[in-house]
Formats: sequence, structure tokens, C-alpha cells
Amino acid sequence: MNSPRIAVSGLLRRVDGVDRTGVNAEYVAAVLAAGGMPLVLSPLLGAARAADALDGCDGLLLTGGADIDPARYAAAPSPALESVEPPRDEFELALLAAARSRRMPVFAICRGLQLVNVAAGGTLWQDLPTERPGPVAHRQAAPPAEPTHTVRVAPGSRTADLLGTGPLRVNSTHHQAVRALGAGLLETAWAEDGVVEALESDDAGEWLVAVQWHPERGSAGAADRALFSAFVAAAAATVQASSPSPR
Ligand code: MN
Repeated sequence: MNSPRIAVSGLLRRVDGVDRTGVNAEYVAAVLAAGGMPLVLSPLLGAARAADALDGCDGLLLTGGADIDPARYAAAPSPALESVEPPRDEFELALLAAARSRRMPVFAICRGLQLVNVAAGGTLWQDLPTERPGPVAHRQAAPPAEPTHTVRVAPGSRTADLLGTGPLRVNSTHHQAVRALGAGLLETAWAEDGVVEALESDDAGEWLVAVQWHPERGSAGAADRALFSAFVAAAAATVQASSPSPR
């Protein structure tokens, strides 16, 4: 069987004086390890080309990165808002809309989870330490792959089918989080302080799973691999459903 083709949302960043586009290698490696064929899509493509760029792809992975422009959820910028990349917001929102309209499996990580929520009409805490202080350091001081807090997972959810109900130990390198939940989504995991750590579609027939931690870093071990494996398997199932003849 051909590997399912996984579109991976890329970033655009100036490094050493040169504008570069690509994505953190860990995302690509995690898709490969799960048996998928990762294809990085640059935000330089632009929103108008997003749907065309998904042609021939079987799944969409929305990756981590900068803060989402709060104008997207009709909020004034917090003083603690960090860098925003409106062209990337626009491109990824177009990718997500096109993927969902095709019923393509979507897996969203960190900023990707926040994008899924904003696309569904939800809002974000722009900076947890100043807007929703609590006992958990969601931007951990420990190395990025080290697990530092636990999450509990909603029983009966797709997320629990993949991870169990926990508590699961995960890494945490975010300062934003879900505030008001968007339409058609379910909260499916929470940290000890109640911060939302996973979302999924409320439509059991749609494979849309989002996590606030970084499973591509493998901190949660088998649980993190289970997320990528299930995502790639869902993409493979889409290939089989839409391709009656071998290709
Ligand atoms: Mn966290």
C-alpha cells in the first residue's frame, strides 16, 4: 500500500539573515515513523492556493508556532501577546477549512489546536501567566521534550480511545490556551489546573484531534506515538475509501 500523504503546515522565519520556510524536523520525523509521507506546505503558497495544495493529500497536520492574531477572535491584543504571523494564520485557516470540507483527517498540535478553536469561533487566553494564573507552569523551564505536567482525558472520547484516560505526563511549552470553546468541538483533556489540553470534533465520524502538548517530541512515549499512528491510519483509511483501484 502507498503511504498516506500528510500535508504538514510550514512556517516562514528569518534565520541568520535569510528568510527560510520549512518546519521543525520533529514533525516530519514523527509522520515518517508512523508510516506517512510528510509533505511540508509553505505559507508562501497563500490562502488562495491552500485548497489546491491539499489535492492528493490524505491528512493535514497543523503544527506549532507563533501566537494567532487576536483580531481573528475579535479581541484586543494583550500586552503579553508575542509575535503574530497573520499570513500564516490566513493560510492555515484556509487549509483547515478545505480539509474539513473534504472530511480529511486533521491532527493539530499546540498552535494548531488554538487555530482549530479560533476557526470554530472560539477564543484564546493570550497569555496564561497574566490572564489566568495557576499552579502549573505551561511554559516549562525544563528542556522541551521533558514531561512536566499531567493531563486527564475525557472518558468515552476519541482522544481517550487513543491515550486512555490518564493521568498522562506531557510536555508544555505554550503561553496561550483555549478560553471559550468553538462550535462543534469537544474539550477532551485538561491539565491539573483545568487548562484545556485536547480537543476533538463533536462529530464522531470526523477525525479531528488536537493536543496542546508536543507529541512529536515523544515525551509521553507510547501515547504520543499512538496519536501519530492513529492519525496516519485514519488518513490511510481515507485513501482506501476514495481509491477503489490501486494507484
Ligand atoms: Mn500545558
